[in-house]
Amino acid sequence: MGYKEISDFTWKELLDYDSCTKCGRCHTVCPANAAGTPLSPRDLVLDLRTHVNNSSTGVSEWFNQSFTNGKGHQPIAGGVINKDVLWSCTTCMACVEVCPVGIEHLTSIVNLRRSLVDEGDMENSLQETLSKIGDYGNSFGQSERNRALWTKELPFKIKDVRKEEAEYLWFVGDYASYDKRIQGLSRKVATVFANAGIDYGLLYEGERNAGNDVRRVGEEGLYEMLAEDNIAVMTKSKFKRIVTTDPHSYNTIKNEYPEFGGSYEIYHYTGMLLKMVQEGKIQFKKKINYKVTYHDPCYLGRYNGETEAPRKLMEAMGIQLHDMPRCKENSFCCGAGGGRIWMDDSKLKERPSEMRIKEALSLGDAQYFVVACPKDYVMYTDAVKTSGNEGKIEVKDIIDLVEEALS
Ligand code: SF4
Ligand code: SF4
Repeated sequence: MGYKEISDFTWKELLDYDSCTKCGRCHTVCPANAAGTPLSPRDLVLDLRTHVNNSSTGVSEWFNQSFTNGKGHQPIAGGVINKDVLWSCTTCMACVEVCPVGIEHLTSIVNLRRSLVDEGDMENSLQETLSKIGDYGNSFGQSERNRALWTKELPFKIKDVRKEEAEYLWFVGDYASYDKRIQGLSRKVATVFANAGIDYGLLYEGERNAGNDVRRVGEEGLYEMLAEDNIAVMTKSKFKRIVTTDPHSYNTIKNEYPEFGGSYEIYHYTGMLLKMVQEGKIQFKKKINYKVTYHDPCYLGRYNGETEAPRKLMEAMGIQLHDMPRCKENSFCCGAGGGRIWMDDSKLKERPSEMRIKEALSLGDAQYFVVACPKDYVMYTDAVKTSGNEGKIEVKDIIDLVEEALS
């Protein structure tokens, strides 16, 4: 599992390493590099190029033996490339987006992580989280029976799509289900959906972590188990399409579950709500002319090209959006992706989320920092406090604004 030898890399990756122009664009946009970690995507590519060049006198040798590099066998993950370099990546894809010659750094990073995971070589907090996901199906290590406890405070009952038919399955995700800081937002989403007449239901304890970040960490076996479990319960359930509030779940269900036999029409909640506004099924009762800025989640904007729906939704509410310099496909990662939210970030020079709050404040006129991802809500509410900016800007989920404009 994963890349151990040069012969494991694809020809495209080997060509990629040779193609690097050393322009440094990827180095400049990388949030891990900005945070002071040892990761530079440019240096990673150049180190792999040097290793390939020094390893052999001929291609046939690359593909037929392990390389000694004149020093005895040196593993690539954890040897040629320091493991801290590999674990620092947030899988934000900014490097891939900006590279002028189409180098795909992430394929190599994730496959090198896989070989570390295969040997159990990872920090304790990550190991513990993966064990919780394996044992309980969620990263919080709570009983699956508690997954929908947040619904108990609602004045209405949400359908269980395993038992009764609904138009939409709302795939809630771990954070919006278990994290107490997000559960209030989940109830707002549920209430907005109900008031808008959306026919929807949940999988309740049948839902599992969607696996997006488990896959980016490099735990491919666990990812496949999660995907297969979710697909099995969804196959037995009765719904036409999926909506999710979690861009990470959105990405893997939309783009990767088809590999495992699960193909679905899926919406991020901003896209679904915009569609309903455009069809006249949702009508905002008042204009809310706040001045805000908006953070594009990597797994919605860069991975899936969805940057307009949240903006059009805010425009329909009368909101004045002032974008940060790094926005849309050039957005700057919050630092949580690729499993980084489960790893120690105490050694960072500065957290990417704190840098992002400063970027928002530099606009000078944003009352609210609007997010559309549960992990972003957690990361940025924390970053406002830790960067000493309480009272200067407030984090809002887009559903806060939708609820207000509807009321
Ligand atoms: S995916 Fe993001 S964090 Fe990882 S190397 Fe590329 S720019 Fe850096
Ligand atoms: S952006 Fe591409 S070409 Fe430029 S340094 Fe990075 S990998 Fe090399």
